[in-house]
Amino acid sequence: MRDRNMRPNSLNTLFASTESLTGVGPRTVRVLKNLAGDRIIDLLWHFPTGIIDRRNCPKISQAEPGTIATIKVTVEKHYKSVNQRQPYRVLCSDNTGEIFIIFFRSRGKWIEQNLPQGQEVIISGKVESYGKSLQMIHPDHIVQIQEMGNIAIIEATYPLRAGITQKTLRKIIGKALISIPDLKEWQDITLLKNNEWPSWSEAIKRMHHPKDNKDLEATSPSWMRLAYDELLANQLAISLVRSDTSKDPGRSLVGTGHLKYELLKNLEFTLTKDQKGAIQEIEYDMESEKRMIRLLQGDVGSGKTIVALFAILKAIESGKQAALMAPTEILARQHFNNIESLTSLLQIKGGLITGRDNLKLRKESLLKLANGEIQFIVGTHALFQKDVLFHDLALVVIDEQHRFGVHQRLSLSNKGFMPDIMVMTATPIPRTLLLTNYGDMDVSKLREKPGNRKSIETRTISAERMEEVISAIRRATKNGAKVYWVCPLIEESLEFNLAAAEKRYEELKNIFGELVGLIHGKMKTSEKDFAIESFRSGKIQILVSTTVIEVGIHIPDATVMVIEHANRFGLSQLHQLRGRIGRGVADGTCLLLYSSPISSNARKRLQIMRETNDGFLIAEEDLKLRGSGEILGTRQSGLPTLKIADPYLHSDLIETAFKEARIIIEQKGLSAKTQRGKALRTLLYLFEREAAVRYLSSG
Ligand code: ADP
Ligand code: MG
Repeated sequence: MRDRNMRPNSLNTLFASTESLTGVGPRTVRVLKNLAGDRIIDLLWHFPTGIIDRRNCPKISQAEPGTIATIKVTVEKHYKSVNQRQPYRVLCSDNTGEIFIIFFRSRGKWIEQNLPQGQEVIISGKVESYGKSLQMIHPDHIVQIQEMGNIAIIEATYPLRAGITQKTLRKIIGKALISIPDLKEWQDITLLKNNEWPSWSEAIKRMHHPKDNKDLEATSPSWMRLAYDELLANQLAISLVRSDTSKDPGRSLVGTGHLKYELLKNLEFTLTKDQKGAIQEIEYDMESEKRMIRLLQGDVGSGKTIVALFAILKAIESGKQAALMAPTEILARQHFNNIESLTSLLQIKGGLITGRDNLKLRKESLLKLANGEIQFIVGTHALFQKDVLFHDLALVVIDEQHRFGVHQRLSLSNKGFMPDIMVMTATPIPRTLLLTNYGDMDVSKLREKPGNRKSIETRTISAERMEEVISAIRRATKNGAKVYWVCPLIEESLEFNLAAAEKRYEELKNIFGELVGLIHGKMKTSEKDFAIESFRSGKIQILVSTTVIEVGIHIPDATVMVIEHANRFGLSQLHQLRGRIGRGVADGTCLLLYSSPISSNARKRLQIMRETNDGFLIAEEDLKLRGSGEILGTRQSGLPTLKIADPYLHSDLIETAFKEARIIIEQKGLSAKTQRGKALRTLLYLFEREAAVRYLSSG
C-alpha cells in the first residue's frame, strides 16, 4: 500500500478510475472493467486490432458492394416504414446513380432531421447490393457537407465485448488520450533516435489513431517503443531484486559426501550422463560462495527428481535444511514418498506440508522444522505461509516452476539465509522467456532419457468413433493394461469440467464395472490418494480424471492414455499428459479423441503430437502456435505479465533491455537525484513494477 502512495503524481490521471472520464457512468465502468480494466491506463493499453479506412470516396456507380465507402449524395425521397418489420428507407443519388439508406427500428424524426430532402450530405459505411439496387444499412456517419472534417478518415477498431459499441469505445478512449500527461523521457535519447522511436505520449496516441494497418503491427515504431518501455521496466525490476539478493553473497555448502555415497550405493539404476553432469554443476554452484540460481530443464521422465535429491542431500550434509516445492498436493506427496523410499537407509528426517494437513501434525512438523530436527521439507505453496519457519534453510528446489510467480519464489527464498535456488521444469524455456521471467539464470539440461524409456504410439481418432475406442480399451484391460482417461475443461468453469469427468466415469462404470476409478481436483486429499493408490496397486485399471494427473504422476505400468477433446489442449499440456505413460517396462498407446469443429491450429497440434515425442521440439512448436503466456502459465498465476511486448516478436528487444537494465543498476542510474533516474522510477510505476522500487535505496 505504501508503495502505491509513493507513485509519482504525474501518473495520477493515468491511474484514475475510468469513471473520472466525462460520460462514463457506472454501467460503462463495469463493461470497460471486463474489457480492459477499471483504470484509464488499462484503456490505453487496450490496443486496436484493425482500422476502418474511409479514404475510399467513389461516385455511387463506382461504389463496390462489400467495401467501406464515403460518398457525397443528395437526399431524394423518404420511404417511411409502415410497420415494425419494414425498414425506413431513404433514396439518395448523385449524377451517376442511386443508393438507399436503410434504417431498422429507428426514430423517423431523427432521420428526417439528419437527411433533409433535397440536401447534400456525406454518408460513410458499408455498401451492399440488394437485388439490383445499392444500399447502405445504418451508415457509420451521416454529416452535412460543412462538417465533413468530423469524419475520421481512418478509424481504429477494438476488440469488444457485449455492452459497448466501437463508436462508444472509440469516443471514450479518445477522451482518455486527451488527458494523458507529458511524461519526462526515461529512455536513452540515442536509442530513440537510432530506432526512430517516438516519445511515450506520441507512441500511445499513434496506437489509437493509426494512420494505416502498418501502425498496428507489433513491429511499428510506436509499438516497439512501448514494448521496450515495458521490457525495460521488467528487467529493471528483476535486476533490482537480483542485485539486492546478491548483496549477500550466499555461502559455500561443501558437505561431507557421506549421504551422496550412501544414496549411490543403494540406487537401483545408474545415472545418465546428463544427470551426472547436472549434479556436478549443482555441486559446484553450492560449493561456491556465490548464490546458486539454476534452472534444471528436462523433458518428462528425464529423471529430474533424483538430481534434486542429490542437491538436497548436499545441503543436509552441510548441516542445513532444504525445501522442495511442488505445484500440487498430489505431486508434493509423491515427491515426499519417493524421497522417503530412496533415502530409507539414510539417517535423515523429512516432513511434508500441504494446505490441508492435520492441525496437530502440522504444528509438530513446524516445530521440528524451526528447531532443525527436520532436515528437508516437501510441500505445496503452503510452504510460503508466515508460520513456516526454518532453522537454517540453505536450498530451495522448485518443481515445475511455471505454476509459480516471481513473488512467491522470492518470499520463500527470503526465509533462509540466502538459500540456493534450483528450479525444475519440463518445459524447455527459450532464453528470451527466461530473461523476461527471471533475468539471468544458469541452465542445466537433461536431454537424454534414462535407458529403458518405452516408445509411445499416438493415434488421433474422432470422438464419434467411441465404440471403437471402448473395444480397444476392453482388449487392453483384458491384457492387464492400466488406462488413464482424461476429460478436459470443456467450458471455462470448473463445474463443467467435473461434470464431464463424472459423466464419463458413470458411463465407463456401466461398461467396465469395478475396474473404473475417478479422480479430480475437487476431491478430498484422502479420496485422491485412495484413487491413485487403487490405480497403482491395480485394483482399478481405468482412471478417469480431469487434468490433475498432468504433471509428475508416476505409475510405471500405466500404458494407455485416452484424452478426450484433445483438440482443445495446448501442445505442452498434451505432451505433459502423454508423459504419464511409457514410463515402465511396456510400450504405450495414446489415443487423442477430437471433436468437431476442429480448427486448423488444433489439427496442426494433433499432427505434431502424432509425429514426435521430443519435448524440446514440441515446446518450440508450442511457442509458435500459442504464444508465451500460455507456455509459462503466467495467465494462471495472476502476476503482472507482459501486456505489450511479445517474447517471440520482440526477442531482440528483450536482450537489449536485459543489458541496459544491468548497466543502469551498476551505474546507480535509478538514483532519484538525477533526471533520468527519476524518469526511470516513473517507468517502473507506469508498468506497476513498484514492488521492485522497495529495493531501491532512498538515494
Ligand atoms: P521427471 O524428470 O519427469 O521429474 P522423474 O524424476 O520423475 O522424471 O523420473 C522418472 C522415473 O525415472 C523415476 O521412476 C526415476 O526413479 C527413474 N529414473 C531416474 N533416473 C533414472 C536413470 N538414470 N535410470 C533409470 N531410471 C531412472
Ligand atoms: Mg517430476
